[in-house]
Amino acid sequence: MKVGLVSDTRITHATPAAFYAHSTDRDSEYEIAEQLIESDIDLALSGGKSAFLPRANTLVSDSSQDSGAGHGNRADGQDLIQRWRERGYPVVQNALQLASHTTTPLLGLFAKSCMHDAFLEGKDGEPTLAAMTKAALRLLDNPGGFVLMVEAGQIDFAGHDNDGGWVLAEMLRLNSALGVIEEFTRNRDDTLVLLTGDHETGGMGFSYHHPVKPEGMTHGSPSGSSKANDVFVTKDALRALRSQRATIESISHSFEELPMTERTPDALRELTHDLTGYSINPDTSRWIAGLINGQLHNQTVVDTLITPFYSKRTARYALFARALGAQLGLTWSSGNHTSTPIFIVSSGPGSASFRGWFQTREIGQLLKSLVKKR
Ligand SMILES: [Zn+2]
Repeated sequence: MKVGLVSDTRITHATPAAFYAHSTDRDSEYEIAEQLIESDIDLALSGGKSAFLPRANTLVSDSSQDSGAGHGNRADGQDLIQRWRERGYPVVQNALQLASHTTTPLLGLFAKSCMHDAFLEGKDGEPTLAAMTKAALRLLDNPGGFVLMVEAGQIDFAGHDNDGGWVLAEMLRLNSALGVIEEFTRNRDDTLVLLTGDHETGGMGFSYHHPVKPEGMTHGSPSGSSKANDVFVTKDALRALRSQRATIESISHSFEELPMTERTPDALRELTHDLTGYSINPDTSRWIAGLINGQLHNQTVVDTLITPFYSKRTARYALFARALGAQLGLTWSSGNHTSTPIFIVSSGPGSASFRGWFQTREIGQLLKSLVKKR
């Protein structure tokens, strides 16, 4: 039975690493990378090249141009890509090489760290998640069977940033990969497909309260009271989220790159409108600009409502995204993972085993027992 891993984050990130490595710390990615190279995984496609190559000022990887030399960040000078090759196995480093490759074992490393977000997916020669999934199914399918894990891991990143437009873009990326899987299983009855996540992130929901409706909301009960048939999210709101063309974090960075004197609420409104299509109102714009410029002084509010739930890094971007989301009736509870139950969707043989309520770890145990039974 062949085993393959695909992720749009890094191959040493928590989810793919759980399939091949044992470590006391998920952040020990240099050690986790070594374990991948020594493992008997048949296929690994993702980003995260820097954990496999030495820092440029120590050793340089083998001489070929596409070796990724200069991308390395290992302080110990090890070249793990070279070690993988010494085992007799190839490495691919862009979409074209992957599409024409025909054998396993195969290591595909397409980005220095995480692969591009959904807005930039496919740029710089990176394969899309759907393309990696397609290649993985083609390379793993064999009479002895296979296990393939495909991770759309940046839905979580978008949740941490409370960035609704980004969440939607990442969901659509997952949807494309699911389309590839659906096409593969359409005319066969021997493949179990399981769709789930390890947790919800951000406490995302659509809501509003009487009497002020979000600007993007045109339906719902006129009184604003909570009735069972209320429409909490409208097509207009979803369309607005769909029109977003960059992450809120990248919009914030563009704003921060302006000279201080040009970092005005109006400039922020213009920048945001260009990249999202949202017209933020002047009050919100003043508030966000103040936040980014470090002029927001209501420390009690920050300490009470923000500090417990947001990392220092994500707080500003998440609050920016949150303020934008509020115009669409999009609400968030946190900048971190939540305890909210999540869906498991399954099809194919063994799918009935996944009905009901489970602790996260039980999913892995169930999968293992199904593989053993085979
Ligand atoms: Zn997370």
